[in-house]
Amino acid sequence: MSADLPFLPFSRPTIDEATITAVGEVLRSGWITSGPKVAAFEAQMSEYFGGRPVRTFNSGTCTMEIALRIAGIGPGDEVITTPISWVATANVIIEVGATPVFADIDPVTRNLDLDKVEAAITPRTKAIIPVYLSGLPVDMDRLYAIAKKHNLRVVEDAAQAFGSEWKGQRIGAFGDFISFSFQANKNITTGEGGALVLNNLEEARLAEKYRLQGVTRSGVDGIDVDVLGGKYNMSDIMAAIGLGQFANIEKITAHRRALARRYYEAFGPDFEAQSGAQLPLQAFDSSNYHLFQIILPDNGPTTRADFMNALKDRFNVGTGYHYAPIHLFTMYRERGFKEGMFPVAEKIGRLTVTLPMFYAMTSADVDRTVAAVKAILIK
Ligand SMILES: *Cc1c(COP(=O)(O)O)cnc(C)c1O
Repeated sequence: MSADLPFLPFSRPTIDEATITAVGEVLRSGWITSGPKVAAFEAQMSEYFGGRPVRTFNSGTCTMEIALRIAGIGPGDEVITTPISWVATANVIIEVGATPVFADIDPVTRNLDLDKVEAAITPRTKAIIPVYLSGLPVDMDRLYAIAKKHNLRVVEDAAQAFGSEWKGQRIGAFGDFISFSFQANKNITTGEGGALVLNNLEEARLAEKYRLQGVTRSGVDGIDVDVLGGKYNMSDIMAAIGLGQFANIEKITAHRRALARRYYEAFGPDFEAQSGAQLPLQAFDSSNYHLFQIILPDNGPTTRADFMNALKDRFNVGTGYHYAPIHLFTMYRERGFKEGMFPVAEKIGRLTVTLPMFYAMTSADVDRTVAAVKAILIK
């Protein structure tokens, strides 16, 4: 019986022995904060993204905030984003003093509906923050056509999209600002951390200032501060983990795509009709399958909470949900948002469930999860 099997979490990091050894070397080296490992990690990512400058930070959240600051976004400016993301995506807009504007999502991709984005543009709109939920990019051609037409900056929240592609190009290798997160559950991790792909060295130098108190050094003893920076640098301990993870990026993405294929096969062509649930879009040449999310049937045999509890209690399978609609959080309601404003996001926010998906998972784990989901949903 499935409940006798070990607990299967929805996500778990894999850190190999070579990486653990490399972290030990940093700890013994006498230099544990930002240093040669950070420089090496940034250089490797820059090469991976076609030579564009890359700078690292200590979270994906501050990475996006710094991108907005570099773009000069602040009070009086509007930034359009999706209500279905981790709350960080909208919080950073408020953090820089700008106004978050939400546009509803597409029910199939569960990403920003770009028609709704265009409709939300006003003379005060300065930027768009698209989110690539579960690693699936939006229509990148359309996104950048809209940005160009309306003269907007784009800060891509690609927190979940390291290794994803669009028409054969890596997410991060083209576009405006691309922000990644290396939080523990992401496809590659540094424990906590983030990286920003920038357009040029001038922006990169500004990013370096924002991440360390605005400081510029010159010569042996020269120092100046000309912008207000914070304390957002990545340490060499984190970068050593990142280098070890990054070395496996192709294998990680290939394995996740193979697990996703197994999910679709195990669910089979009749699952959606039989259960009323919705599987994610099949996108093996673009998504890195950071998450595998199903949408439960509305008025189905179980509420989401009961479904999640049943998977855990009866089958020992862990789940998550990504995400609750941001505009319905108290702080956002206090800014005037309310139910009914973004109906697609509200429905998906109520019914989405994240099934297990991580590098160390096996096809047997997928089969076990699918059997459990079917046992609960199909009567
Ligand atoms: C993880 C995540 C973030 C935040 O990244 P942190 O590194 O945790 O700050 C933001 N947006 C999305 C979509 C994420 O998945």
